Amino acid sequence: MNRYQRLTAAIDVTRTYRLGSEEITALRGVNLTVLPGQFVAIVGRSGSGKTTLLNILAGLDRPTSGDVLFEERSVMAMGERELLEIRRHKLGFVFQSFGLLPLLSALENVELPLRIAGVKARERAVRAREALEIVGLWARARHRPYELSGGEQQRVAIARAIVNNPPLLLADEPTGELDSVNARAIFGLFKEMVQERGISVLAATHDSALLEMADEVKEIRDGVLHDQAAQGLRFRD
Ligand code: ADP
Ligand code: MG
Repeated sequence: MNRYQRLTAAIDVTRTYRLGSEEITALRGVNLTVLPGQFVAIVGRSGSGKTTLLNILAGLDRPTSGDVLFEERSVMAMGERELLEIRRHKLGFVFQSFGLLPLLSALENVELPLRIAGVKARERAVRAREALEIVGLWARARHRPYELSGGEQQRVAIARAIVNNPPLLLADEPTGELDSVNARAIFGLFKEMVQERGISVLAATHDSALLEMADEVKEIRDGVLHDQAAQGLRFRD
């Protein structure tokens, strides 16, 4: 892939929701580009449109107007099958609440996307181990989620998200349930994965203390995305 090709881009994305007679505009003309190997953070208060934007970039929701490009291809022009292929093979997701299955071990949770993709047992074992090593948790592979701290559970969730080697990781408030030390560790891990493995990360957060680790910071206010670098990191929730 061309190094300068946009990995994903939002082009004039607007999203409105209709609630009875009321219309809510969650995103207003959002333009955003993520390049290969870039760590972009989006900061914004609750209700500012972060989840709506990430869901649209993930192909889980579609814009009311505008478009999303993934590897320069229009997502609006794609059918559900193609979108599903992209979600399965090109994207990893991390959520605030980890989303691990409680009865499975860390290793089994990480393996799950590979099982769904039909990868054979031997290769699953190799790749799941590698993913757990990347997040520094191979030693806890046999533990169930309730035996792990919040920060460790989120690292397992990150291992699960990257086990398919996706070029893009989308993270929606991944540190929302963590203390500041673990929150920094998660953003540090994102930074390391971007630098050492060349994946791209797009992470939404309301914690401005984490932004210095990103290559680029955007702020979303009332559905409008602003460049933030010039004015410094003044956002407070
Ligand atoms: P954030 O993730 O930054 O907290 P969201 O993207 O969840 O913000 O929400 C942005 C705005 O869109 C909010 O005003 C929210 O109430 C509204 N919204 C989100 N999802 C829906 C929905 N399914 N129906 C109606 N309004 C919604
Ligand atoms: Mg949200």
